[in-house]
Amino acid sequence: MTSSVENKVVAITGASSGIGAATALELAGRGAAVVLGARRTDRLDSLVARIRDGGGRAEMLPVDVTERTDLERMVALAVRRFGRLDVLVSNAGVARIAPVADLDVDDWNAMIDVNLRGVLHGIAAALPVFRRQGHGHLVTTVSTSGLKIVPAQAVYAGTKNAVRTLLEALRQESTDGVLRTTAISPGFVRTELVDHVADPGQRDQAQQAMAALGISPDAVARAIAFAIEQPDDVEIGDLTIRPARQG
Ligand code: NDP
Repeated sequence: MTSSVENKVVAITGASSGIGAATALELAGRGAAVVLGARRTDRLDSLVARIRDGGGRAEMLPVDVTERTDLERMVALAVRRFGRLDVLVSNAGVARIAPVADLDVDDWNAMIDVNLRGVLHGIAAALPVFRRQGHGHLVTTVSTSGLKIVPAQAVYAGTKNAVRTLLEALRQESTDGVLRTTAISPGFVRTELVDHVADPGQRDQAQQAMAALGISPDAVARAIAFAIEQPDDVEIGDLTIRPARQG
């Protein structure tokens, strides 16, 4: 069995910046058709133009992953425009890190809504299409935060580990060869992720760690491409990509 990135149809959530944007460029550069979703459509427009200028195939649409129907529209666009959906990269995420005792309940809910419910919405939209086609690949961006528990990341890590659990159960439920699942666990990656942390102390600390240690989002994009390009009967279940100097 052979497989590659070329000619795969890949939908990516959270494609407007960071890992999602890098993945869009990496996969489109290798000949995939990409469907890009996020809320900042100006960023998506620029990315689509850049990919098309380079001879690639890309479409975009506004997607808020907390809205189930947005994921349905994303999957439908892939099928309508490119004939099928081979891979869904559920990458959209927020990291509102803070100690639990700060009781930032709105931030807890935002992380649950985007990082967990958003992935579930993607599964609900893509799985029927994967089953109808007889193949499909679900890639999610989880985190090393779920592997090494540290203060101030409890809810964030909890959402990422919930997704890890979800994927493992889904994998065991899908041993008929229709579905492949991959959990990508990045460590510190230089993106905008921690710029949205509300608490200035936590934000400074996280931004400093990113600046000191963070690797390029291109490294994660290459790991996602590696998982996707495997032969159809090979599933890369878990991949951790972290800075060599990360503790
Ligand atoms: P960015 O902040 O650059 O990217 C986050 C992406 O998620 C953006 O494209 C943003 O788009 C999108 N997003 C946020 N909320 C929503 C929403 N409600 N609906 C749709 N899209 C949304 O950070 P990263 O690239 O670093 O993050 C990508 C993933 O990688 C996340 O899941 C993150 O948890 C994970 N990760 C990152 C690490 C790092 O060190 N950077 C480490 C481990 C995991 P928009 O605002 O336009 O909607």
